[in-house]
Amino acid sequence: MSDHAPTAPRLRVAPSPTGDPHVGTAYMSLFNLAFARQQGGRFVLRIEDTDRARFREDSEQQVFDTLHWLGLQWDEGPDVGGPYAPYRQSERLETYRPYVERLLADGKAYHCWCSTERLAQMREVQQKSKQPTGYDRLCHGRTQAERAELPGYTPTPVVRMLVPDDVELSFDDLIRGRVSAPRPDDQVILKADGFPTYHLAVVVDDHEMGITHVVRGEEWISSTPKHILLYRWLRLEPPQWAHMPLLRNPDKSKISKRKNPAARLTWFQEQGYLPEALVNFLALLAYPPKAGEDGEDVEVFSFEEFSKDFDWRKVNPVGPIFDLKKLDWLNGVYLRRLEVGQLASRLLPYLQRDGVLPAQPSLGQLARLGRVAELIQTRMVLLSEATALVAPFYSADDEIEVADDARAQLKEDSGAVLGAALEALSDLDDSREGLLASGSRWNAEAIEASLRSAIVEGMGIKPKLAFGPLRTAVSGQRISPPLFESMEILGKTSTLARLSRLRDALAER
Ligand code: GLU
Repeated sequence: MSDHAPTAPRLRVAPSPTGDPHVGTAYMSLFNLAFARQQGGRFVLRIEDTDRARFREDSEQQVFDTLHWLGLQWDEGPDVGGPYAPYRQSERLETYRPYVERLLADGKAYHCWCSTERLAQMREVQQKSKQPTGYDRLCHGRTQAERAELPGYTPTPVVRMLVPDDVELSFDDLIRGRVSAPRPDDQVILKADGFPTYHLAVVVDDHEMGITHVVRGEEWISSTPKHILLYRWLRLEPPQWAHMPLLRNPDKSKISKRKNPAARLTWFQEQGYLPEALVNFLALLAYPPKAGEDGEDVEVFSFEEFSKDFDWRKVNPVGPIFDLKKLDWLNGVYLRRLEVGQLASRLLPYLQRDGVLPAQPSLGQLARLGRVAELIQTRMVLLSEATALVAPFYSADDEIEVADDARAQLKEDSGAVLGAALEALSDLDDSREGLLASGSRWNAEAIEASLRSAIVEGMGIKPKLAFGPLRTAVSGQRISPPLFESMEILGKTSTLARLSRLRDALAER
């Protein structure tokens, strides 16, 4: 029986700020958080910044921003504080020192003065002679003076664990059951610069911060025996472990930031994925869909629904394929579910980023955005795709640039089609009274009716071909939001100006 009083679970995610946050950080956070929320526990964000060579200044803020964006909120962390602050390892150096002293005093760890050159040489010899690689313990049992007599010496030592022959190599994992890991070598725990390595810092901090469940990527399985050893030597209660599978590309390779833009969390933001769609997508990676009422798979669900019946035993340890097509599908589902006003506000930052709208849009511009958003809601998968569709609504009439593919589609008779459209549309009434009256007023329905009668019936051109030149004149694009509704939103003056501008340009050719 455990002599510990049952406490609410405490979980953590512990990213290293070494560049753009990896999508794996969001994946780990989601599963940690789902369990923490279900159990009424706490979720901690700890920044593991002891690797000073790989440290990147802006990375920590990006971790905060991307996790906030996804709505994966932590209860304690460097920015919000908490009872175990500081939550940045570089600010906790004093915390680790006594643990190192204790391990040295107990003979569980020893100083090592070997130079990097000597270690590299040693490894080369081991590899050539096909011996297992690992530190050869040249420094073990020697004083500094004794060691200094031998080659490959540096005066500033590191501290290494003295891994015993009978080190425990297997452990229980909440996802995988009993897991075995390879034998570790004499791992460095304190570096020459006085910083702990990950292995020491993670054990000390998980203990000091009362972490009950360590949930992290599969790549840490081989480190777990070292951690278990440290817990034992320091006489600390170890946490429970859950090693999540690694996310894989469709060719089964590991997702890496170097090769795959989708490994970067900021990429999803840039592309215009909705955070709720990405969270839903991540929740389906290595985790089964929900069962619907009549037994069918339900793949669209919220974080709360995911968290409610979350169970570690349902996580599939086989690396799930990171299939962006699935994410695109989910994004479309969530996009179409948004109310138009919400869609417009989600679009706004993208349109501002891409220079379609200014930082402080006018009320008129915002009102127009609401109307345009409705037109394009079913016509995009990503928010960033709105830029091309929306831009023509905010361009001056004489600034519409005709895209090459749109120009290529124009035919001999395009000028005549534009002329007929101009004539037909000039009869529609766009005065205040006209807009309110029924009949020949300026609205999509009347625009369509008069264009059909002038071009399809009047000129005998098939509808498929009839409206291409008009679309190009109005938007500059071959594909655009619905044409008649677009003309209604643009208004009569703009529409006619754009039609005649293209007609005149064609006449000059
Ligand atoms: N700092 C480690 C990382 O970046 C955390 C590993 C762990 O959760 O123990 O992945």
